[in-house]
Amino acid sequence: MSADDRLASVIRAHQERMVDDLTSDLWGFDGPWLRRAYPNKAALRLFMEAFVEALRRSFTKRDGKQFVNEYGVSLGRRYAEEARDYDDVYNSLIVMKNSLLPFILKADPPIEPLILRLTDVLFLLDHEVARRYYEVEKTQHAQFAELDILKSGFMRLTTHELRRPLSVFRGYVSMIESGDLGEVPADVHKAILKIAVSANEMTKLIDDLAEVGRLEQPDKVLRREPYPVDQLIKDAVEVVRAEALAKKIAIIERIDPSRTTIQVDIDRMRVALQNLLSNAVKYSPPESSVEVRVEPQRGALTIVVEDQGYGIPAEEVPHIFDKYYRGVTPETQNTPGTGLGLYIVKQIAELHGGRVEVVSDPGKGSTFRLRLEA
Ligand code: ADP
Repeated sequence: MSADDRLASVIRAHQERMVDDLTSDLWGFDGPWLRRAYPNKAALRLFMEAFVEALRRSFTKRDGKQFVNEYGVSLGRRYAEEARDYDDVYNSLIVMKNSLLPFILKADPPIEPLILRLTDVLFLLDHEVARRYYEVEKTQHAQFAELDILKSGFMRLTTHELRRPLSVFRGYVSMIESGDLGEVPADVHKAILKIAVSANEMTKLIDDLAEVGRLEQPDKVLRREPYPVDQLIKDAVEVVRAEALAKKIAIIERIDPSRTTIQVDIDRMRVALQNLLSNAVKYSPPESSVEVRVEPQRGALTIVVEDQGYGIPAEEVPHIFDKYYRGVTPETQNTPGTGLGLYIVKQIAELHGGRVEVVSDPGKGSTFRLRLEA
C-alpha cells in the first residue's frame, strides 16, 4: 500500500467514525415528510458547509476517471420538485445513517439541491444501493406524514368538536345548579354539582390536551391581544367553581381594578390559570380557602394563586413542572390528574416571556406566582 493510500484509508476511517458519531442523533426532520426537528446544530453546520462545497465538486475515482455526481444531483432535483408544493420546506435536512443524505436549502438566492451518500462527500456513490434506500426511505416518510396528519386531525376533532357540545352541557348544568331555572331540592343540587365537577374536569382535560398538541407544533405562535385581567381570572375561576363548591373551598378574588388589561394569548393564558386554580382546589382539604390576586410591578404583573393545602415536599419541587410528573404523596396519589398541568403553565408563561414560581410549606399551603410582562 502506498503512503497516499494509507493516508486515504486513515482519513476515510476517521471520517466514517465522525459521521457515525454525528449522525447518531441527527434524525432531524423539518420537511414535508416528517415534522419534528431534532437537529444536532453543530453537525448541521458542518454538513452544510461540506455539501455546499461538494456541490461544486466532482470526484476522482481510484482508476483515475472523473466522477460527476449526476445521480445525486438528479435525485436532488426530484426531491426539490416535489418539495415545491410545500411551503414549509426550508433548511430541510434528512440524514440516514450511512445511506442517503438529501438536503434542500430554500435560500435566497436559491442553492441547487443535492443528494449524496454520506460517505461520498469525499468518496464514491453506489448508485443502485442509494436508489433503493431512497425509495424505501421515501415510502416511510410518506407513511409518517400520513400518520402525522391523522394524528393532528384526531386532535382537532377531539378538542374542537368535543368542546362545543360540552360547553352547551356545562351552560345548562350551571343554570340548573345556580337556581336560574327554578328552585332545586338539596339532594338534586348535590347531584348536579357532581355532574358540574365532572363536566369541568373534562373541559380541563380537553383544554390541556389541545394545549399540549399546540406546544408540540414547531411554530408556537402567540396571538396576543389586550384582555381585562379581572375577566381572565373570572373565566378561570368559573372552571373550578363547582369543584370548590363541592369541597366548600372559598375562592377569594382580590383584583386591583386600576390594572385593567394585559397583552396575552387569552386562550392559552386561561388554560394556564385554570391549571393553577384547579391544583389549588384539588390539593387542599375541604373548607379551606384559595386566594387569587394580582400584584402589579413596574413593567410586569404577577398573578398569584395561594392555597392552604397539603403543600409540596421540598424534594418534589424541582420536578413538578416536568411533563407527566405527578407527586408521590398519598394526597396526590388519591387525586386524579395527568401530570400535564404545571408543565403547560410553565411553557405558556415562558412563551409569553414570563415565568412561574412556587413557594410551598408542606402541611400549610402553596403559593404559585405567574409573572408576566405587562
Ligand atoms: P397533576 O395535578 O395532574 O398531577 P400538575 O402538573 O398540575 O399535575 O402537578 C404536578 C404535581 O405537583 C402534582 O401531582 C402535585 O403533586 C403537585 N402540585 C401541583 N400543584 C399543587 C398545589 N397547589 N398543592 C400541592 N401540590 C401541588
